[in-house]
Amino acid sequence: MLEPEATIVCVDCGGRCHLLTQPPEDGLWLPGDIVAYRCEDCRDRWDLVLPGDEDTSKGDGFDDDEGRYPWSH
Ligand SMILES: [Zn+2]
Repeated sequence: MLEPEATIVCVDCGGRCHLLTQPPEDGLWLPGDIVAYRCEDCRDRWDLVLPGDEDTSKGDGFDDDEGRYPWSH
């Protein structure tokens, strides 16, 4: 089941980033959903897109997936 991590490691400072985004009311995360994290150390905000199907034809210009999905180790 698709679910974002509660915390991720900050790319900048290595601190902990906490999930800001509330789960959807039905509890179902969808591929392409944006989730936001806030770093507790440097206060940086990170917006991540939940990974999903191969449907990348959204045309939003993102083509480097590197580091975009820190929860898929
Ligand atoms: Zn940080």
